This record gives sequence, structure tokens and C-alpha cells, in this order.
Amino acid sequence: MAPAAANYYTPPAHPPQKQRGYRICDTCGAVENPTAQKFRLCGGCLTTQYCSPECQKSHWPSHKTICQHTAAQLSGVKQQPISAAYPDENLAKYLRRFTSTHASLLGWAGFQALQLKRIPANIRQSALLIELSYNPHGESLFRFSIAGTRIVPRSYVTSHDPLVAADIDRREERCRKSGGIGTLVILVQCGGISQVMPVEVDPPSKITWDSRDDWAEVLRHFVESGRTDFKPISTTARG
Ligand SMILES: [Zn+2]
Ligand SMILES: [Zn+2]
Repeated sequence: MAPAAANYYTPPAHPPQKQRGYRICDTCGAVENPTAQKFRLCGGCLTTQYCSPECQKSHWPSHKTICQHTAAQLSGVKQQPISAAYPDENLAKYLRRFTSTHASLLGWAGFQALQLKRIPANIRQSALLIELSYNPHGESLFRFSIAGTRIVPRSYVTSHDPLVAADIDRREERCRKSGGIGTLVILVQCGGISQVMPVEVDPPSKITWDSRDDWAEVLRHFVESGRTDFKPISTTARG
């Protein structure tokens, strides 16, 4: 009798580990592997990501409210007269693109700024505010430079906008259910526009990134040289 081995499903020996800095499908929690397949960005809010059209479709009923809220901010900015606070009608769109392009760098910077490796509880108290200045004549990777970085109370972000706060809470709950420490909040701001970037963070036992005090310089260097190839350094062993 021939063995039917070929018909058996063999689970992968090493299931892919969730890694900080990578995008997570907001429906199924799949982690993006940018070299294999890029996730799709929701076209309404340009913030939420999905692994597939199916996941995007099934998430829509629960995503609709926050999506339309974010999209309204985007179109509201378009109607502002050009000024110091709104130097370009596409500023909100550019800011979202910036955040998406530099997602792993910004996530790493937030992780370092809040010293989450040493003090994971900081994740609930504080947020990283990154202030950008806009270069109207810059090419796509040189539109923004870092004007400054600051640690602010997390309530600075959540108390202004109940819908954003609810979205952060939802991610936090999901992250904790899967053993993580919670949702790191990064606020990217340029003129009158800001973008909240929530990053779900792994449990301390899985944190292999080296602690770095020079994160602000690293951040500035990568942004200002238009580099999108940032990779965090891990010299400590996992576990
Ligand atoms: Zn998915
Ligand atoms: Zn959306």
C-alpha cells in the first residue's frame, strides 16, 4: 500500500514570527513580508493595511467609521487655503505616504524613544511626537525633514479624538490577546496636519532589538538622506 504522504498537509516547521516594524493585516493579523508581497493600503484613509482583497472587504463594516473620519480629514485639508500650516493641498496625502514608507524606521524610533525594552509599561503612558518640516520643492523622498522629536503623554493623542482612541484601544486589545505589550502610539505632525501611527509591540521575551540612545540621529539620517532601507540591529539572542 502506497503511503499517502503527499496528501498530508505539513505545517511549516518555523511559522513566521510576528516582527515589530512590519505591517499587520488589520483583519487577520498576517504579517507583511515586503519581499514576497506588499500589503494593500485602504484607499479611503490611506492608513489601514490588508493582506488581500478578501480581508479588506470583510473588514469594511467595522472599518467604515474610522475610515470615513480619516478620509474627511484628508479632504478637509484640501479645502484649506495655502498657508504656513497647510503649505500644500496634498500635504495630508504626502504625510500618509511618508509614514507608510518609513513605517519600520518610525516604529523602531518610537520603541527606542519610549525605552520599551527596559520599561514596557511606558507604552501606556507615553507617545512619540515627530514634527516634520515640509520642503515644497523636494522630490518624493525628500519632501519632509525632521524638525524635532518629543515624548508626549499618550493622552495628548487619544484625548483629542475619540474615534482614533477607540481604534488604538481595539489594536491594544488584539495585541495583548496575542501576548504583546500593547500599542505604541507615534504621532507624525507637519503644520496643521497630523497622522497617528499605531504599532502593535511584541512581548519583552521576543524583543531582540538593541537599545539605542542615538535613535533621534538615526531617524534624522535616514529621513534626510531619503533612505528607505532601514533595518533595526539585533545582537541579543531571542528569548
Ligand atoms: Zn488579512
Ligand atoms: Zn480606510
